[in-house]
Parts: sequence; structure tokens; C-alpha cells
Amino acid sequence: MKKSAFYFFTTMQLPVIDMFYSLQGEGRNTGMAAYFIRLSGCNVGCDFCDEKRAWSVNNSPMLSISQIMDEVLKTKTKNVVITGGEPTLYDLTELTNELKANNIDTFLETSGVNDICGNFTWITLSPKKKKQPKKENLQKADELKIVIETKEDFLFADQMRLLTNPNCLYYLQPEYSNKEKTLQLIIDYIKQNPIWRLSLQTHKMINIK
Ligand code: SF4
Repeated sequence: MKKSAFYFFTTMQLPVIDMFYSLQGEGRNTGMAAYFIRLSGCNVGCDFCDEKRAWSVNNSPMLSISQIMDEVLKTKTKNVVITGGEPTLYDLTELTNELKANNIDTFLETSGVNDICGNFTWITLSPKKKKQPKKENLQKADELKIVIETKEDFLFADQMRLLTNPNCLYYLQPEYSNKEKTLQLIIDYIKQNPIWRLSLQTHKMINIK
């Protein structure tokens, strides 16, 4: 049965490069069914980025909040992950308010380099060395997720951790293409520094989106 949609007319549009219903693959909410909204545009530019197609807004259709909500509400999801690219390039207040009005929890995935505008249930902050996050965003994070490429990244991880709030959860995640080299380093580091936990990109391991 189609859910009833509670949203108001709005003219705001967002560049959506991808929308799909799947399972969250990473971090504390691994395994949770969620609808993913991937917005294009990024002002960071990481070398290891696995979503480079999302850097430019040129190839993404501009969708209204109503069009996005229509797609979300075709599914049974109670969770929406807003990711990118860097989704904080946009004011997400209207979208997140509409989702909340439909009893859907909202999960943001961000590097934290811009102001965060929206009404979020959960914020995953994944800082990048190339362009560091705003300090106030580190304070807002529910989980901190650091991608590890080399052992030098552990120092950066702990520098970021010390700037978070006391309730934040801490994850180290191997950069996927390099995971054979770093996974054992991460395991050893977590055993010595058990405040950290391991995050794996399980969606890639089981070949789902
Ligand atoms: Fe890619 Fe995210 Fe880095 Fe942007 S912040 S370049 S989307 S990994």
C-alpha cells in the first residue's frame, strides 16, 4: 500500500546523482535498511574518492523536494541517508523536515567542511586531511569515521577524535582499494587504542550498492 505523503509545496531543487534503497554498509548503523540520496558537488577532492562522478553537478538532474519524497515513499524505509559528494553544500532543512514529518529518520554523511543545515537524527563525520572539518561540526558528530590509507593517518584520527563530543563513537575504516595493506595495522591499532572500532565497507564486500 502506498504511504501517504505529508509535504508542502516547495520550489527548492537539489542535484541528485543517485537514489536507491539498500542497506547501510558502514559504521554503527551497518546492516540497517535505508534509502540513499546521493547529492552531487564536492569542495574537498580526495585522491582516494570512490565517488568522483559526484564531484560535478553537471550530469545530475535537479529534483524538487516533492520528487525526492515521492521516490522515498515508494519504499518501506524508515531511514534516509543523505550523502554525496559533499551534501552540506546545500541547505537540507526542507528535505530533512519533510522526511521527519513522514516519521523517517535522517542520516547525514559529511566531511564537515561546510556549515551543516538540516534536521538530522544521526551525523557521520568523515574528516579528510586535504581539507579539515569545522570544529563546530566535530562537536555535532554522532560517529567519527576516519579512512585509513597509511599508518600516518592514525595521528590525524586521534587529533580529530579529541575535538569531538564525549558521546561520539569512533571508527577506523580501511581505504577499500588498499585494505590488504592497512587492515592488520588498523586491527593492531584498535587493540592498543580500544576507544576505536573497526568499520568495513560491507556493501562492497557483498556487492550491493
Ligand atoms: Fe569524495 Fe567524499 Fe572526499 Fe568529496 S569528501 S572527494 S565525495 S571522499
